[in-house]
Amino acid sequence: MYRISVRTRSKVDFQDITPKVQELVESSGIESGVCYVFVPHTTAGITLNEHADPSVAKDIVMQLEAIVPQHNNYRHMEGNAPAHIKASLVGNSKTLLVEGGKLLLGTWQGIFFCEFDGPRNRTVLVKIMPDKR
Ligand code: ZN
Repeated sequence: MYRISVRTRSKVDFQDITPKVQELVESSGIESGVCYVFVPHTTAGITLNEHADPSVAKDIVMQLEAIVPQHNNYRHMEGNAPAHIKASLVGNSKTLLVEGGKLLLGTWQGIFFCEFDGPRNRTVLVKIMPDKR
């Protein structure tokens, strides 16, 4: 298992971690298999979406803010209920395919770490498993 450290820079921060995951896949030497990416946090998550145009991530953030109001009759006393809800909406893991020693992603797809209660030091866990021979 591998660990990626992510230092988020603001309260809500989407960071493109595609190069870091790709580097792990390439250094694993696994030609064909599965790459499982897991975020072990309750106020952060992971999503796969377009990373060619940074406006896409900004629009996703904007709309998540609209869907989940900052103030409501939340019961969670820590004050970060919106961050927990947004983390549940995006989810906390992705299963990716590895082919030819690389991540198999669509042309425009990138992997985003999604911070909802930053800035913080975060961890992403990665497991890369070869096909059975
Ligand atoms: Zn909380």
